[in-house]
Amino acid sequence: MKNLLPLLLLIFHFQLGAQEKLPNFVIIFCDDLGYGDLSSFGNPTIQTPNLDRMAMEGQKWTQFYVADPVCTPSRAGLMTGRYPIRNGMSSAKRVVLFPDSAGGLPESEVTIAEVLKQKGYATAAIGKWHLGHLPQYLPTNQGFDSYFGIPYSNDMDYIGGMEPRYIDLADDPDAMPEIKYYNVPLMENEKIVERPADQTTITRRYSQRAVDYIKANKDHPFFLYLAHNLPHIPLFASPDFKDKSKRGLFGDVLQEIDNGVGQILQTIRDLDLEEQTIVLFTSDNGPWLVFKTHGGSAGPLRAGKGTTFEGGQRVPTIFWGPGQVKPGLITDMGSTLDVINTFAALSGAKVPDDRKMDGYDLSPVLQGNGKSPRESFYYWTRAELHAVRSGPWKLHIQQREPVNYGNKVELEHPELYNLESDISEKYDRSAAHPEIVEKLMKVYKAHLADTEDAMPDMLEARIKE
Ligand code: MG
Repeated sequence: MKNLLPLLLLIFHFQLGAQEKLPNFVIIFCDDLGYGDLSSFGNPTIQTPNLDRMAMEGQKWTQFYVADPVCTPSRAGLMTGRYPIRNGMSSAKRVVLFPDSAGGLPESEVTIAEVLKQKGYATAAIGKWHLGHLPQYLPTNQGFDSYFGIPYSNDMDYIGGMEPRYIDLADDPDAMPEIKYYNVPLMENEKIVERPADQTTITRRYSQRAVDYIKANKDHPFFLYLAHNLPHIPLFASPDFKDKSKRGLFGDVLQEIDNGVGQILQTIRDLDLEEQTIVLFTSDNGPWLVFKTHGGSAGPLRAGKGTTFEGGQRVPTIFWGPGQVKPGLITDMGSTLDVINTFAALSGAKVPDDRKMDGYDLSPVLQGNGKSPRESFYYWTRAELHAVRSGPWKLHIQQREPVNYGNKVELEHPELYNLESDISEKYDRSAAHPEIVEKLMKVYKAHLADTEDAMPDMLEARIKE
């Protein structure tokens, strides 16, 4: 037996060696960060040197979409590669999950973490989850080995302080809520460890946790999902960052997030993992414009969060990975729906084949040897299919007012925009191109028919008193 030991160690070593070749994945997901909030996407006053460097060294994607313009369904789309209408995470009754919600992402759904588990990845979720805060819906029951974070939005569990709840904030650029108004829990796996969570240090603590996680898992493949609670309102920054940005508190918050991105990328470099790690930085939806200067900016895009205009669903996106991602500006279409297929392709894992998937493998674009297979995109919100994009053309069939959670607008006729020549959706071309309207109406109807087997609404149910 003794003689076999060196041989066994050798085999073990080679197995480890093979495993090491699998790429690590990190997703840094912001909340309500708009298309116009990064300097690499044109913001003139928010200083984000680390994200700027990340964009220079990696790929900047300018036509990248989230699956829905609000938190819960957007995250469901990212995690599963399925439009949230398919898994009960898009609702006509309740826009997102709340602290009294009884539901969450169904356990039968397969997340990115569960897909990567096929290949033995270590997995961790840090930050905002918002796919169910009851034990059966938490990240630790959806493929993640560990969880640390506020399980839903940082403005929930409101217990008073500003009346009316938000108006002061929207109308006073200097208004600042106190942490104690929002009795949100901070969780370590399934346990609450702090309440209310100290939100002034939350961004710093999330980034530190991410750095610690990467160091602790450097010797085997890992998937780290870091979902910042900010810059969702209310905004908080730690003393080192407060009052530092020309943009005000929103800028302070973003500069603190940027600092964390710098620490994470530097840790990856220091550990010599940069050749085998891919980092994706993006946002869950567009800026929350009703909060005026407290909210972000959609830059040249129309409207923001909660709407199916571009400002609601097109998000600033950077892929980085010196050994994995060929630097460049990418104007092909992509979506958070594509992340699961892309990471599966790069790791040799399989996405589910027993259900309808909406994602594409973007790895040929990342590696610089192909075009994006994504040619179309469907704009869902509140369980309504509003619009469809095919190539440069976007057809709006339904709309709501271009503000967060706006009322329905009756369109006299479908509106057609060419997003490549008219990024701001200003010039309706439907009268000039009836043949394109007709073609996109068919695409719209076909997709509606394809989602008729959608799961029932999982956002509506409330915990019984
Ligand atoms: Mg959001």
